[in-house]
Amino acid sequence: MAESRPVALVTGSSRGIGRAIAAELAAHGYDLVVNYASNRDAAAETGALVEANGGRAELAAADVADATARQSLIDATRSAFGRLDVLVNNAGIAPRQRVDLLEATEESYREVMGINLEGPFFLTQLAAQWMVETRKEFPDRALHIVNISSLSEYTSSVLRGDYCLAKAGLGMLTQLFADRLASENILVNAVRPGIIATDMTAAAKGKYDGRIEDGLTPLRRWGKPEDVARVVRALVGGDFSFCTGAVIDVDGGFRLKTL
Ligand code: NAP
Repeated sequence: MAESRPVALVTGSSRGIGRAIAAELAAHGYDLVVNYASNRDAAAETGALVEANGGRAELAAADVADATARQSLIDATRSAFGRLDVLVNNAGIAPRQRVDLLEATEESYREVMGINLEGPFFLTQLAAQWMVETRKEFPDRALHIVNISSLSEYTSSVLRGDYCLAKAGLGMLTQLFADRLASENILVNAVRPGIIATDMTAAAKGKYDGRIEDGLTPLRRWGKPEDVARVVRALVGGDFSFCTGAVIDVDGGFRLKTL
């Protein structure tokens, strides 16, 4: 019997960077689980893109911050496709309000950490358990976990400390699972986007337009979701088979220090 197509689960793929990743992976031979929180119409649009690119799409609502929902997401993947080759932990939120560190609230902290760190931690755990089982039966299958972190992993923004903390944690999460899963040849890597034009950054567009023009990023343009998506596709496409625990900055050179 012919092998079925590989399957990627991309959290938060109804919009933005996640949508671009789903479309890109579909164009390179994957079927997709399109996860979203509440925006089913947007998820359906991603599903249509996936199908236009030759993939099958399963739409799956699940709040990654919720343990029961995370298990349902894995169960939905199993019942739709019976396999999981790639998990992309992409779903994330900015804090609802930018608030100075001295006034930051526990409510915002819990919400941001729940979605941006606790979700990826325990979803990765579930996916990894399944992948370890898969590895026993399929020694040669390419199995990957990719975390979408941020330049906020190492850059202080005192008006959204909770977001920075969550992304810093995601950096260690990548290292931990890379270490734990190396013996299974399950590769765990991270991509750190810079300033990318999505709904998340739309509110700050005016501010960033000016700063980008003034050289905030040596490549003086906004990043596009597709810039990130192509790197994710490259990471899981076979050419990075000796990389695990690696981090790729997709940030127009933001990280460069210049004189
Ligand atoms: P976005 O356009 O705001 O899209 C967010 C996506 O996450 C949507 O699909 C949303 O689903 C989903 N989502 C939100 N809460 C969720 C939850 N609790 N459970 C499951 N899905 C949830 O964001 P984006 O800019 O594409 O960001 C994607 C990732 O890149 C995030 O991790 C973000 O931190 C990171 N990042 C973004 C930038 C940037 O400049 N944009 C820079 C660095 C890193 P619904 O449509 O249902 O709401």
